[in-house]
Amino acid sequence: MGQKDLARNQASAGERASVQKLRTRPHAQVLIIGGGINGVGTFRDLALQGVDVALVERGDYCQGASGASSHMIHGGIRYLENGEFRLVQESVVERNRLLRIAPHYVKPLQTTIPIFSTFSGVLAAPLRFLTHKQQGAPKERGAFLIKVGLSLYDFFSRDGGTVPRHQFRGRKRALAELPRLHPGIKYTATYFDASVHNPERLTLDVLQDGEKAGASGASDARASNYLSLVSVKNGAGERGTGSTVKLRDELTGEVFDFSADVIVNTTGAWVDLTNEAMGSASAFMGGTKGSHIVLDHPELLAACNGREIFFEHTDGRIVLIYPMGDRVLVGTTDVDADMAEDAVCTESEIDYFFDLIGHVFPDITVDRDQIVYTFSGVRPLPKHDATQPGFVSRDYRIERRAGAGQGGGAAAVLSLVGGKWTTFRALAEHLSNDVLAELGMPRKVSTAKLAIGGGAGFPDSEDGVQRWIKAHMAAGRDADRTAGLLTRYGTRAGDVINFLDAAPDRLLHSTRELSVRELEFMARNEQIGHLVDVLIRRTSLAFRGLVTGELLNEVAEILAGPLGWDAATRTSEITHAQEVLKRFHGVQVHSLVS
Ligand SMILES: Cc1cc2nc3c(=O)[nH]c(=O)nc-3n(C[C@H](O)[C@H](O)[C@H](O)COP(=O)(O)OP(=O)(O)OC[C@H]3O[C@@H](n4cnc5c(N)ncnc54)[C@H](O)[C@@H]3O)c2cc1C
Repeated sequence: MGQKDLARNQASAGERASVQKLRTRPHAQVLIIGGGINGVGTFRDLALQGVDVALVERGDYCQGASGASSHMIHGGIRYLENGEFRLVQESVVERNRLLRIAPHYVKPLQTTIPIFSTFSGVLAAPLRFLTHKQQGAPKERGAFLIKVGLSLYDFFSRDGGTVPRHQFRGRKRALAELPRLHPGIKYTATYFDASVHNPERLTLDVLQDGEKAGASGASDARASNYLSLVSVKNGAGERGTGSTVKLRDELTGEVFDFSADVIVNTTGAWVDLTNEAMGSASAFMGGTKGSHIVLDHPELLAACNGREIFFEHTDGRIVLIYPMGDRVLVGTTDVDADMAEDAVCTESEIDYFFDLIGHVFPDITVDRDQIVYTFSGVRPLPKHDATQPGFVSRDYRIERRAGAGQGGGAAAVLSLVGGKWTTFRALAEHLSNDVLAELGMPRKVSTAKLAIGGGAGFPDSEDGVQRWIKAHMAAGRDADRTAGLLTRYGTRAGDVINFLDAAPDRLLHSTRELSVRELEFMARNEQIGHLVDVLIRRTSLAFRGLVTGELLNEVAEILAGPLGWDAATRTSEITHAQEVLKRFHGVQVHSLVS
């Protein structure tokens, strides 16, 4: 993968504390490979059970599919036509749970489906349901079919539902609510799902919960990014059981041995490649690529009226136009992925996105200049043959491979096939249960109601938010800045503020959203491997198109102290950030460094 290759060229100062923790205790009961949301979720769950667990991620946390999603925490209404009732029910339950346990990042999302016909698709849907294949030309999903789907959706939501039931509107009322919609619509259906506003930070919160649980319990849960599994070493671990693998620090190139009794492969679309590296070929995966663009387009933003517009494009694909803060997210595509190629958003995908905007908002024009960011990722779907990408099962399963036999043999390897963002908590529970069974250990804690990171004690009303802000303002930290910290960290912003207040601080010259001390906090506590991690995953500056040459220089200069970067490393970090932004996100940032 290109991003990894770029990372490997970067120098780094000394050994990172996260790597040291694995090197000094080079055995764990469980080694998790892959730091996307599913690996990290499983790490947290196992740490809470008192399991000695380690996790390695070859790039930054949440840099794979988990950082490329449509940001929806949803039941997946369209999976009903695939017959995936179990998945939809679990997803709706998990959506409602995440709204409660991660309220700092997961928010209700009003969603409107524009509908152009009454009965279309009614025959096509059962056929699709029976065969899981598209029959001939795509049949549009009409009002009747959507009504059936949404009623089922409401039914699944009935227990502990935290969102209102769906509503249908006739043309006149629909156009009164959303006047820029295509005048040819017959109805709209509006319902609530949820949106994850900051998936990268939610992943980090889940990870830090795991580390904290480990530190306070019997085990020492430890995790490192920029650490990849490269191969398996013959021979058992130090206790005579399990397997020994080789891990490589992607920032220094150093390789060391690590052993575990059970290995969990949560490397998403790379699961088969990881199994191959461990000497046990598999053919589980058949990932599909999906891209998005982010637009700075006030007219389109206003046309959405705060809602996600979720609809069927002319090719039968379900697509979305979705306000995120002051930007608009548009996606997504679904094409079989070639894992030898980098996942990037192509020009023809951008044409497709412009076309789909025109399908529902025909009098709004969009220009390539209004694109501030693009991103693309590979869904970790199961291998599929004739089935069209859009109809491949979105459910997950766990594949177990015994090493050379249990009791004195090589470690069992559990590979995760599939797994959406929405279901990560439930999936982590299932995967942990399987691991606990391997280890002969009981489950001690349920994560179903356990607040995640800065979701603990998060104010549940706008008044509460304002009170929190007022209580945490100080000289030199106004309401906007304090609100920004609460948005970025949830209630963990309290710890950040304590750190900021312990020494003199100032806002950056290039953005008012960050201060010098806050960057130092990130460098000390959030495993920053590269400058680009701050721009893409510790903040949303890149997503919103706010990275400038001045910002690159200033952030690199401030991080250099705590991360021990010399002048040459600082320059190479700036170049690396520019290359990643250009190659993977279509963003050209001119450097001020000559
Ligand atoms: C375009 C798109 C839109 C989506 N939209 C939604 C949505 O709206 N809602 C939803 O619920 N889901 C959505 N999904 C699905 C969801 O994002 C993924 O299913 C989920 O994030 C997968 O997480 P994961 O942890 O299993 O995999 P990943 O996030 O891909 O993580 C796997 C990790 O393994 C690492 N890795 C690989 N090889 C190695 C190695 N040898 N050593 C160490 N680490 C390694 C990778 O670097 C990567 O970080 C979408 C996915 C895509 C691509």
